[in-house]
Amino acid sequence: MTHPHENAAYRVKRSGPGLGFGLFATRPIRAGEFVIEYTGRHVTNEEAERMTTRYLFELDDRWTIDGSSRSNTARYINHSCDPNCEAEIVDGKIHISAYRDIEAGEEITYDYGEEYFDEFIRPRGCGCAKCQSETPTSELTKAPTA
Ligand SMILES: [Zn+2]
Repeated sequence: MTHPHENAAYRVKRSGPGLGFGLFATRPIRAGEFVIEYTGRHVTNEEAERMTTRYLFELDDRWTIDGSSRSNTARYINHSCDPNCEAEIVDGKIHISAYRDIEAGEEITYDYGEEYFDEFIRPRGCGCAKCQSETPTSELTKAPTA
């Protein structure tokens, strides 16, 4: 039986504390290289406003991709304030591509954007490697939880 991700440059595994799963490079990835597509069904932006899932990715002023399906492996990619990938919209598809060279074993990350950060990440403190190295743990636990 052939696994669909057999030849992929990544695999899903446990990430840092509090981050759940993440996507990790299984081989070096060059800057600019396509890594994975963020897939899901199309919903209108209006519909998306009423949805509670966090796996929403706005395509344009009309459509949003609902990436909450388990088949969307890209949903395991964690946010980072110092990411190694970027998400770009190419022909109506969301492509996650390497922003810089990535080493084998490195966690694949991209910047979720200001809106998502303010709504879901800032309240509990960002767990990305950059913020973890800059912020003492004691300050993180003091962050407002509202
Ligand atoms: Zn961060």
